[in-house]
Amino acid sequence: METASVSLKGVRKSYGSLPVVHGIDLDIKEGDFVVFVGPSGCGKSTLLRMIAGLEEVTDGEISIKGRDVTDLDPSDRGIAMVFQSYALYPHMSVRENLAFGLKMAKTDAVEIKRRVDEAAGILKIDHLLDRRPGQLSGGQRQRVAIGRAIVREPDVFLFDEPLSNLDAELRVSMRIEIARLHRELGNTMIYVTHDQTEAMTLADQIVVLKNGKVEQSGSPREIYENPSNMFVAGFIGSPR
Ligand code: ADP
Ligand code: MG
Repeated sequence: METASVSLKGVRKSYGSLPVVHGIDLDIKEGDFVVFVGPSGCGKSTLLRMIAGLEEVTDGEISIKGRDVTDLDPSDRGIAMVFQSYALYPHMSVRENLAFGLKMAKTDAVEIKRRVDEAAGILKIDHLLDRRPGQLSGGQRQRVAIGRAIVREPDVFLFDEPLSNLDAELRVSMRIEIARLHRELGNTMIYVTHDQTEAMTLADQIVVLKNGKVEQSGSPREIYENPSNMFVAGFIGSPR
């Protein structure tokens, strides 16, 4: 079998004595758009943060492109994460926000400029590079946050509910943008949401989580047409 892009083996997480992720096995195919979906508190963010290395696993193993990354720092995993809160630096321009992580990593200035200009082009924020975050709309800020991930040229993009802070209309247009981004870049993307529409429209593979376990995993169509139980049917299968 071809090497999985991201592979989880028996991944568990407890906070103190409270188990929140209960032994997850999962293989994610290179280039797939995978959506973790499930109700609030089911462990989506915890799982994503363990893949990112922001949270230690209590047990189990995580590999990215065939390399065991379980004990590696976030910056050594070939991932970049986009959060729900944009976490931009308010006193820096958009260009400086995009460049900041690369500067810290001592990337040379010419290469930084090339990557920042390229990301700005992809996200259509070229005209905003001299502004500060306070002078941007919510959608524009989220583009900058996504740009900060793109400039790192990661193998895998991780998104944690990136659109939840946007109003409904903007959510739809940003969703289309993210789908386009995936087509253009072709990277593996793992995307957490509690929104069924986002899951159904973006995913190659949906992983339905409940109480820290995988309830069902498959293509949107497989899950929609053949939900394995009432919970999945209620969450994905039956549009209301
Ligand atoms: P989701 O992203 O699906 O809403 P989370 O992964 O954030 O869920 O949380 C899963 C469970 O773990 C929840 O019950 C939450 O309260 C708990 N939890 C998350 N982070 C911590 C933490 N740092 N310390 C203790 N409990 C936590
Ligand atoms: Mg969450």
